[in-house]
Amino acid sequence: MANVLVFAESRAGDLRKVALEAVTAARTLAEQSGGGQVHAVLAGAAGIAGKAEALAAHGADKVLVLEHEGFALYNPEALAATLAGLLQGGAYGYGLFSATSHGRDLSPRVAAKLGVGLAADLTGFAVEGGAVVGQHPINNAKVVATLALSGSPALLSVRPAAFQPVAAARPLATEAITSAVDPSASRVKVVELKQGNTDKIDLNDAPVIVAGGRGLKAAEHFKLCEDLAEAFGNAAVGATRAVTDDGWRPHSDQIGQTGRNVSPDLYIAAGISGAIQHLAGMRTSRTIVAINKDKDAPIFKIADYGIVGDVFEVLPALTAAVKAAKAS
Ligand SMILES: Cc1cc2nc3c(=O)[nH]c(=O)nc-3n(C[C@H](O)[C@H](O)[C@H](O)COP(=O)(O)OP(=O)(O)OC[C@H]3O[C@@H](n4cnc5c(N)ncnc54)[C@H](O)[C@@H]3O)c2cc1C
Repeated sequence: MANVLVFAESRAGDLRKVALEAVTAARTLAEQSGGGQVHAVLAGAAGIAGKAEALAAHGADKVLVLEHEGFALYNPEALAATLAGLLQGGAYGYGLFSATSHGRDLSPRVAAKLGVGLAADLTGFAVEGGAVVGQHPINNAKVVATLALSGSPALLSVRPAAFQPVAAARPLATEAITSAVDPSASRVKVVELKQGNTDKIDLNDAPVIVAGGRGLKAAEHFKLCEDLAEAFGNAAVGATRAVTDDGWRPHSDQIGQTGRNVSPDLYIAAGISGAIQHLAGMRTSRTIVAINKDKDAPIFKIADYGIVGDVFEVLPALTAAVKAAKAS
């Protein structure tokens, strides 16, 4: 039996969906290791404690609340020191993070402070013979490495959307904790959070992604992707690097090796060739639909459904079909 400490990410005072995914993953890990407790660390400015209930609803036995103005924005130094302090006491067998940009920054800092191993960006795991054995896509996700983590505490991070949040209600139990170091005195200061498309669903939170490539020919034609995303209602628009480099879409929309890693339920690739660097960021999507007028485009090799056709005909037809299906 091992307890799990999970870092629950928030942004601008709100829980991120990845926080619920991480708590679900932590619950799974606790059950697999014989029924340990899940404690979630929730850091933010005054009022963040109000978000603890959602963590309890997804399986956190206790929420450790770290409220301080110094945590209003991501504070890597103070968080790493606090999490390392909690983990080094021997109370936890595992520390679990989301493999987001913050989690990728924070988890190695904690691992280095503790001198323990970290299995990063896992798409799945199981406890086998007392050790966590996890799957980690490598070489642009062409190969899946199996990693066995020994030692305690063992740290792992899970890829966004690899675990869907599952309700597992626990009675709400919170405990106020303090930062191991003064959060206002950090040498690293995040001074501003710039959110693109605040009115739109984040790529990591979207169950459906409509991604466009150079096949759309011009920035204004991304309206076709926007229309389809809007018809779904729960979709975000992504892009290839060719598109973001040309300035058709912001860099925050780029999916791939040097962009975002996504694993939505449905990924629609419109006018995308399927370069290995793009596949690296989306090939773990549950269902992939590719639209390309070239029947030999590499994207069709990994697509579950392939539509050989012109995006300017297929996207409007799909939008109309989704609208009709929703109306009926
Ligand atoms: C170090 C490095 C890192 C990189 N990182 C990334 C990354 O993170 N993400 C990323 O995406 N790329 C990345 N790239 C770039 C990558 O190699 C490709 O150049 C890029 O993904 C291609 O984008 P694309 O599919 O939009 O364009 P293209 O490769 O030009 O493909 C356009 C596709 O559209 C199709 N098409 C054209 N017209 C139509 C039409 N009317 N209807 C339907 N289909 C049509 C064509 O048949 C073609 O298959 C990286 C490259 C390097 C070297």
